[in-house]
Amino acid sequence: MRWSQSFLVTLREVPGDAEVVSHQLLYRAGMMQKLAAGIYSFTPFGFRSLRKMIDIVREEMDATGAMEVDLPILQPKELWVESGRWDRYVNDGILFHLEDRKGGEFALAPTAEEAVTDMVRRSVTSWRQLPFNLYQIRTKFRDEIRPRFGLLRGREFLMKDAYSFDVDQKGLDLHYKKMDAAYRRIFERCNLEYALVDADSGAIGGSASQEFMVVADTGEDALVFSDAGDYGANVEKATTAPLPEPWAGEEERPLKKASAPTPGLTTCVDQAKHLGTTSSRIVKTMIYEIDRADGETRLAAVLIRGDLEINEVKLPKALGALHAKLASEEILRKISGTVPGFVGPLDLLPFKELPIFLFVDRSLEDGRNIWCGANQDGTHHAQVSIKRDVMSLPAFKGVVEVATARDGDPSPAPKGGLLRIKRGIEVGHIFKLGTKYSEAMKCEVADQSQKMVPLAMGCYGLGLGRTVAAAIEQNHDDLGIVWPVPLAPFACVVAVLQRDAHVLEAADRIYEDLKAAGVDVFYDDRDERPGVKFKDIDLIGFPLRVVVGGKGLAKGVVEVSTRREKKASEIAPDRVVDVVKRSLAAGAKTLATG
Ligand code: ATP
Ligand code: MG
Repeated sequence: MRWSQSFLVTLREVPGDAEVVSHQLLYRAGMMQKLAAGIYSFTPFGFRSLRKMIDIVREEMDATGAMEVDLPILQPKELWVESGRWDRYVNDGILFHLEDRKGGEFALAPTAEEAVTDMVRRSVTSWRQLPFNLYQIRTKFRDEIRPRFGLLRGREFLMKDAYSFDVDQKGLDLHYKKMDAAYRRIFERCNLEYALVDADSGAIGGSASQEFMVVADTGEDALVFSDAGDYGANVEKATTAPLPEPWAGEEERPLKKASAPTPGLTTCVDQAKHLGTTSSRIVKTMIYEIDRADGETRLAAVLIRGDLEINEVKLPKALGALHAKLASEEILRKISGTVPGFVGPLDLLPFKELPIFLFVDRSLEDGRNIWCGANQDGTHHAQVSIKRDVMSLPAFKGVVEVATARDGDPSPAPKGGLLRIKRGIEVGHIFKLGTKYSEAMKCEVADQSQKMVPLAMGCYGLGLGRTVAAAIEQNHDDLGIVWPVPLAPFACVVAVLQRDAHVLEAADRIYEDLKAAGVDVFYDDRDERPGVKFKDIDLIGFPLRVVVGGKGLAKGVVEVSTRREKKASEIAPDRVVDVVKRSLAAGAKTLATG
């Protein structure tokens, strides 16, 4: 392909709403455009990268024996009501939905569990027809709250979603393993540095789930790894071994009510400083409104060490609730008579509309000689003992584990070690759904003993556009994109520096030779200054660059360099094909000149 005959326009300016580097560079490299917030068009160059990703994913899915299907994006409300997801997704605001001319309601699919389960239940009646795994590579719609990260978080985006069907858990375990292996191959083939972490199963539901993360400083997700190498989890799910306790070995001293003044100091750090202690000895009391599965709403006071944060993803499950949201300051004042910072578990006022439950984070289980808010502005109780003063209260409901893991905390895995936090981008997610959807939607077969059983399902998502963008987040420099070869729009570019006939002729020949040798090559044959060409070529990030100019030709050479190293080597024109092919085969990190 020649630039002079291409639709490829690079830009100098970064659009104002492009906050992340992949968004900025894809835009400036002329690979994508914004049609509306979170909705993007791929230009031919952008689509080439996406197509390469599609091909890799399709090949690896096919290799596992999974079979490709094509499920409708426009899906009737009734299916979503059957699975129990309609109200929840509508209330969360994530679901795009619309009405047809007769008033029938439809969703634009954010995933396709309902549609695929419906397909299977219509045709499968016996265990003999199982197992199988169905996948598709199709557009998904989600009305994301913050669609501001380009392809990383679109409102319309391309996902590969697969759904496995088995008669029992054993079969599901096998499918899950196969998908795990396929995902590893996919991200390895993309030449990406990735990590696997335990994940929260989120709104889709189910038991085991793992995420595939592309490691990048700009990632939205915090990932927790043990430096001993045997633990990895999304921070939403991560736990720690019990933390060292500042009160270890101390005798319990008598409670001193309202004895510690903390005037105007609302943060644990400031209070600790004022009281001459550390924030790990201050109790933070957080009040949440929780919705329980039985439809009841309650208030929950959750006590945690002042140096820790509550993990609000883990919280609802730990409290036996569906949702938990921070209570308003108005409610806070009604039950405590004070403002955040001075709320504590002792003497909370009865609040007749909403009963209060007390929970204690594990970090405080044995807490003694510590301070907590006295439910009066600017005052704390001193020498509090959690067992003696809090766990004895009728409202106390139990010890929970809801602290957010921190860098340097002890690892919970067998080898010990310390936890380290890295940032990452979730590109794939594999779940064991179990029978959640098959039960709700009556997708059953007769098993070997002729008993009707709901199918064991797994679901396996992978974001294609997000992976392409994540590749850029991981691989770029000040000049532009540094594509891994497998995802580059073109693996190699030939640039001609002058329009003199003999130079053009030499460049044409090299371009044609490379093409004939099967190299994925682009030809910058524009009538532009060399500086302009080099800037564009660096911005687009072709892994290999061949520069043909009059001076070099006079010496009998052209210049070949890799985008990553940017070190040019002089190569005789008749050796270019060989050097390019070998360099690409080795990932084009360095030039294979030997
Ligand atoms: P996130 O937590 O980032 O919102 P998710 O957990 O909701 O993602 P899944 O339902 O697990 O996403 O979807 C499977 C895959 O689809 C994700 O791993 C990701 O690669 C991709 N994906 C999800 N949401 C988006 C989006 N808004 N834009 C682009 N890709 C997405
Ligand atoms: Mg996910």
